[in-house]
Order: sequence, then structure tokens, then C-alpha cells
Amino acid sequence: MNLPLKNNDSAELKALDLAHHLPAQADYALLEQLGGSRIITHAEGCVITDIDGKSLLDGMAGLWCVNVGYGRSELAEAAYKQMLELPYYNTFFKTATAPAVRLAAKIAEKMVLSNPDLKHVFFNSSGSEANDTVFRLVRHYWTLKGEPDRQVFISRRNAYHGSTVAGASLGGMTFMHAQGGLPIPGIEHVRQPYLFGEGFGQDPDAFADACVQDIEDRILSVGPDKVAAFIGEPVQGAGGVVIPPQSYWPKVEALCRKYGILLICDEVICGFGRLGQWFGHQHYGVKPDIIAMAKGLSSGYLPISAVGVSSHIVEVLKTGGDFVHGYTYSGHPAACAVALANIGIIEREGLIERTREVTGPYLATALTRLDGHPLVGEARSIGLLGAVEIVSEKGTNLRFKGAEGHAGPVVRDICIKNGLMVRGIRDTIVMCPPLIITEAEIDRIVDILEASLNEAE
Ligand code: PLP
Repeated sequence: MNLPLKNNDSAELKALDLAHHLPAQADYALLEQLGGSRIITHAEGCVITDIDGKSLLDGMAGLWCVNVGYGRSELAEAAYKQMLELPYYNTFFKTATAPAVRLAAKIAEKMVLSNPDLKHVFFNSSGSEANDTVFRLVRHYWTLKGEPDRQVFISRRNAYHGSTVAGASLGGMTFMHAQGGLPIPGIEHVRQPYLFGEGFGQDPDAFADACVQDIEDRILSVGPDKVAAFIGEPVQGAGGVVIPPQSYWPKVEALCRKYGILLICDEVICGFGRLGQWFGHQHYGVKPDIIAMAKGLSSGYLPISAVGVSSHIVEVLKTGGDFVHGYTYSGHPAACAVALANIGIIEREGLIERTREVTGPYLATALTRLDGHPLVGEARSIGLLGAVEIVSEKGTNLRFKGAEGHAGPVVRDICIKNGLMVRGIRDTIVMCPPLIITEAEIDRIVDILEASLNEAE
């Protein structure tokens, strides 16, 4: 049992938060009105508790990352043991550490399940950094390969690939582009495969064809010999759990092969069991050349991310001398030791099989209870990723346009009051619980969602 630290005084910490702390992705004026952030002090299993003693069922696994749940002393011990033995050494200039090497081999073991060529790993500390690595590595690769004009990335509107300059540029969130003069040049955004939004009422396969046609049109307008790569999340997470039609990814893959374009999957959310496979692309049966991963790699216990790279790319990199890219904490030994122990838990407890065969299908069935609700346009899920679309008119995808703005944050706040942590993205409630969630806890998520929707009506 994790006990709260004894020196946490609520009023004092909230005052310090307001005076000194700039939290991520926050409206600082609103936080001031609210009297500071909700300060989470401890957590166990799937439940988080704040400084005022309020407990919440964590329907978001932190920020889509705590796959093995909270309170795993095994992970704390792995970090402790590694820190005593070797707290830090880098992987620059012809050095490495044992945990980094072992973790690379472990990740390779999972990647080759879908693509025998995908067996090399580059470490970073965050999902954003992983995508920055992807960005530089891919452009460098094409230059070395003798096709220096291939520099353009194709991504999707409303995709999320991080907050760094390259990550936010690769991402397709226009409100992020608006701050900081993004995107940087050489990134093209095409239609997202959002059936409920942009393909409402259409046949899923016909809609997938239209989205893939949009990509092909863009390849042709940019010039096929200028396109370096297509990047996408197998299921768009922060965009609102946008689950593509099943036929979408194989068609994207075929298009990439047709034009010799690299296929990159951003597995930062979908990796490490979220869709009931080690990686999300494995669910869709495609073979990416490169993948980015983070979050569930260490279940968020320590910051770490990785880029999986195929041998055919590494062979080209070998012709170019130093790849002059890397971070002080690339392959951080304690983070790697924790990630190895985390993967060990996922394997030992069969969390991927459980997600695929038990809890994923259970969530899908439980969500059907919301189908008849007057505010619900669609409740969908895949593995342990779910979304509820809130609509103003049943049977349509029309949205509320109230003075409060979007409906998602309103319902989210009611859910939090009722003891459930979810996220409200525009008019969509999204959920991503730890992979250890029980059937009873899934029922509780749906019960609270239903009660909160009733309250919002
Ligand atoms: N890629 C995807 C798909 C993500 O969902 C995220 C974060 O949510 C990122 C990249 C960025 O990861 P980080 O916040 O660790 O930089």
C-alpha cells in the first residue's frame, strides 16, 4: 500500500503551485481562478488519490501510460538496484550500458513478431523526442541513400506526435501550430480516418478508400520523389481515439510501397498492449519500417522512449559516419532497467492476452449500455482504448455549441466529481485505463459515465 507523504499540506502546495509552477498544457488564468492544480499524492492499482483525500478511478492510466497500474514495488526496486549499481552513464561515443543493450534486445524480440527486419532500437526520454529522432533519422537516411530531395513527411490532421518543434509540426493540431509559428516546412497534413466525424454515415471501407486516395493525391501533388515518409498513430489517441476502418492501414501500407515511401507508426499510446498486441500496427497486420514508442514502455514509472528502426535503414546509416543525434539520457540505465521489469510484468501477467481476449471485449460490451443514451452519438473501443461521442441531436453527429464551449470538458468535470478520471477532447470523452483493470472496474467506469451524462443532460 502506498501511503501519502506526511508533509503534504493542501493549501500550502496549491499556493506554491500558483506562485511558481507552470503545469503542462494548462490555462494559467483558469488555474488561478480554480485555486491551483489538483495535486495527486498517491495511487494504487487503478485508483489515484489527491491531496484532499479524494480518490478517483483512473480511466486514463495517468496520461495513457500506466499500463501495469500503480504501486508496483518491483519497478521501484529495479530502479533502486540499478541506481546503486550504475545510476547514470551515457550511450554516446562508443559506450553503452547493460540495461540499454538488454532492453534494445527485448524490444526487438517484440518488434520482429510483425516485421523480421525491425530489430534496432534508438533510445530517448519522451515520445516527442522519439519523433524528433524519427524526423532527423529519416531525412538523413534519404540523403545518404542518394535521394536528398525526399524530405517531405505526410501526416494526418488532428494527429498528435508531441510538443517539441518537430513533434508538434508532425502533429496535425492546428491550435498547437498557432503557437510558435508551426509547422516547420516539409510536412503535409492529410485527412484523418475519423468515421464518426468526417465520414459520418459512410461505408467504412469506402471512407478508408477516400482517406487513402487523399494521401495518394498529396503524394502526387508534392511529387513522389520528394516524399520521405508517412507517419501515423495506429489509433489516434489525443485526437479523440480515432479508430480507423480495419481496411485503412493495409491500404496505406500498399500506397507507401507503391511509391517507395517509408511507413512510420507512432506507437507511443498503442504500444505495449493497448490494442491487445505488443504494438498497434500488429493489430492491423502491417509492417512499418520505423516505430516510435514511449509511455507503456515503462508504464510511465520513469521517462523513456525508443525508436524501432529496420535493418535496411540501419545499413544505409552505416555508410554515413556518425549519426550526430542523441540525448544525454538516451538509454538511461535506471529507466531501461525499469522498462525491462515493466515488460517482464506484462509478459508474466499475460496483460496483452487479457486485453485482447477478456477486458477489451468486456469494455466494448459494457459501452453498448450507453448506445441508447440521448447524448451519445457513438460509444466505441478497441482493446482498452475507448471513446464516447457527445451529440446535441441523437442519430446525428451534431455538437453542442453552448457558451461553455465543447461538451467533453463539461462531462469530464462531472465524471471527476463522481470519482472517475477521464479526458474530454472537444465533444468526445476518451478513456484508456491501466491494462490491469478488472471487469468490476470497467462496469464502474461505464456506470459513472452514464450517471455523469444523465447529470449533464
Ligand atoms: N506520440 C503520441 C501518439 C502521443 O500520444 C504522445 C503523447 O501523448 C506523444 C507522441 C508525445 O509523447 P511525450 O508527451 O512523451 O513527449
